[in-house]
Amino acid sequence: MLGTQWGDEGKGKAVDYLADRMDFVVRYQGGNNAGHTVVAQGRVLKLHLIPSGILYPHITSVIADGLVVDPRVLLEEMDTLTELGIDVSRLAVSGNAHLIMPYHLELEKVTERFLGKNALGTTKRGIGPAYADKAARIGLRVQDLFDPGIFREKLDVVLKEKNLVLTKVYNRLPLAPERIVEDYLGYAERLRPHVADTSKLLDDGLRAGKNVLLEGAQGTLLDLDKGTYPFVTSSNPVAGYALASAGVGPKEVDRVIGIAKAYVTRVGAGPFPTEEHGPDGDRLAERGQEFGTTTGRKRRCGWFDAVILRYAARVNGLTELFLTKLDVLSGSETVKVCTAYRAEGETFEDFPPHQSLFHRAEPFYEELEGWRDELDGARSFDDLPAAARAYVRRLGELADVPISVVSVGPAREQSLPVP
Ligand code: GDP
Repeated sequence: MLGTQWGDEGKGKAVDYLADRMDFVVRYQGGNNAGHTVVAQGRVLKLHLIPSGILYPHITSVIADGLVVDPRVLLEEMDTLTELGIDVSRLAVSGNAHLIMPYHLELEKVTERFLGKNALGTTKRGIGPAYADKAARIGLRVQDLFDPGIFREKLDVVLKEKNLVLTKVYNRLPLAPERIVEDYLGYAERLRPHVADTSKLLDDGLRAGKNVLLEGAQGTLLDLDKGTYPFVTSSNPVAGYALASAGVGPKEVDRVIGIAKAYVTRVGAGPFPTEEHGPDGDRLAERGQEFGTTTGRKRRCGWFDAVILRYAARVNGLTELFLTKLDVLSGSETVKVCTAYRAEGETFEDFPPHQSLFHRAEPFYEELEGWRDELDGARSFDDLPAAARAYVRRLGELADVPISVVSVGPAREQSLPVP
């Protein structure tokens, strides 16, 4: 299950809908930059790192190899959940996941500042630098926490270089290794009972006929390879990566569920063809409460974009769509859907292969009849006004993927299966 747009599609809501039938919920990429909002038992919970499966006593939640984990944040989230009476003993963390270290946070802060107006608008949680070190093969992993000698040895090598960059390039103070060792080995003691061979755990589960949900963070257009590079996240939300990270083979996959919002939002910089700067955009932001869970930033808003949805369907091999926040569109005379782009005198029905074209893309809209009624009271698809049903059907047609569920509010009973 993954986002088909630029994230914040309401993936937490979709996990909630599927949770009853799941035995494992696995996060497969990113770090504490995800920010699911989940409403459970009337409580609003914000989870940045731990999969939202943790809210269900029958589910084992897994943090897979492909994440970068800030252990301080992980423990804080575990404490918050425990205070709320939620049992976190079923959280399993892969020993292969990478650690976010204090120098990652420090370096991200100074490099974003250095980039000035070209800054990426990152969440400044050290996630990008931690992935960079992973690729450079100088990352420290969760399993290193359990061999203090190796941990110190690896840290000394890396920190020497990081401190040179911090002091000589950015004119900052160096970080002391002793402090880091003390903090991190402290975290290790608390994390130890949760660290597991998560690929084996999932394989055992699958062999026993259990259901596994692999949950992506961010969205397809923020994918490091398939997104609008460089305005992307530093990992791969696309479906293919879910398997690499979880350590599960492709033949185990039955369904690939794409989550799409009934309009589009984006946080941070980068191209966004259907963005509405005027009152329509403000209305979507206000009605949809489009303010980031992790950062509090106001999200950029615009009309539904079928071009990016078709692209997401293709690169992820979607088998179905879960459409969220349809209720936000109520009260508009007409609703618009982007069906193609115009750029440099050409029409693109497919996502343009060159970045410059996407930057210049002008949306080509189809206008559909809007609906006045609020939808939050609907309890079945047939309760929706005809115009809203027609809108949903049209999106499914344009995406060429069946829409299986439509959501009209944050609560579980507001997820309506589409007949
Ligand atoms: P995620 O990271 O993809 O889970 O997305 P966010 O948590 O950032 O955004 C989802 C927000 O929208 C949460 O506050 C949800 O409670 C809310 N939400 C989810 N589905 C719906 C819906 O169908 N209608 C409305 N109005 N809100 C929804």
